[in-house]
Amino acid sequence: MKSLEGRAAIVTGSAQGIGRGIAEVLGREGASIVVADINGELAEATAAEMGSAGIEAVGIKVDVTDTDSLDGLVQATVDRFGSVDILAANAGIYPADPIEEIDRASWDRVMNLNVAGAFFSFQACLPRMREQGYGRAVITSSITGAFTGHPGYSHYGASKAAVLGFMRSAAIETAKQGVTINAVLPGNVQTPGLDDAGEEHKREMMGSIPMGEFASPDDIGWAVRFLASEEAGYITGQTLVVDGGQLLPETPMALH
Ligand code: NAD
Repeated sequence: MKSLEGRAAIVTGSAQGIGRGIAEVLGREGASIVVADINGELAEATAAEMGSAGIEAVGIKVDVTDTDSLDGLVQATVDRFGSVDILAANAGIYPADPIEEIDRASWDRVMNLNVAGAFFSFQACLPRMREQGYGRAVITSSITGAFTGHPGYSHYGASKAAVLGFMRSAAIETAKQGVTINAVLPGNVQTPGLDDAGEEHKREMMGSIPMGEFASPDDIGWAVRFLASEEAGYITGQTLVVDGGQLLPETPMALH
């Protein structure tokens, strides 16, 4: 596979967790990286650490729920690196709330960040990608909602299924423009966000993974790296599950 040398990649929500893994893999493969995160200080610190490891990276504060902020991010990327070739739309939240505790505000918060955030991130990059005749967008969805469910995640599951709906139409709209849009669907990934879900949640999840371990952020990064490559140019509107086999067992006994 060709290196990503000369490609500029925006990775949203990459100050930590999966986004950081994606950013580091793309960076190690030669791309220039914009670590775009609402936590501006951590984004800068992460970019600096990546810089010490030989990756060309800059940290930029962005709120993916704010279209002006996204326009600023795209402009800053073009100013710094000259193009926007790759977008990893990864920023997202996964609060666990029982149905009766999900009020309109918490529903809107999850949808706004996870669905509208990914959509408007892509919309902001698209004019530039069309002009270049080249673009690779990869959304971080999830097995939750797309294939599975879990108590507490009705809003989250709805959001992660919804991004796939937007992706499929967007893929057709951009198919003749050198732009592809695909999604990775992680199972459970060892991140600060997963730690926040608590030890009991982690134990339960671990017990359902045939490989017996959580994914590392890099595991998701490598899947994104493939979909973000020049060579994946004939793949659009598709999903790639990265879950250590979690979707496979027909019964709990199949795991033992
Ligand atoms: P995380 O909480 O560890 O990291 C998320 C990052 O997004 C943080 O740095 C945070 O500051 C940033 N962020 C939050 N709101 C933002 C906003 N409005 N604008 C820009 N950045 C913002 O989460 P994670 O576990 O790394 O998850 C990343 C993505 O992967 C999410 O979309 C999540 O739904 C998805 N995912 C995670 C798992 C998992 O097991 N960890 C599994 C499947 C899917």
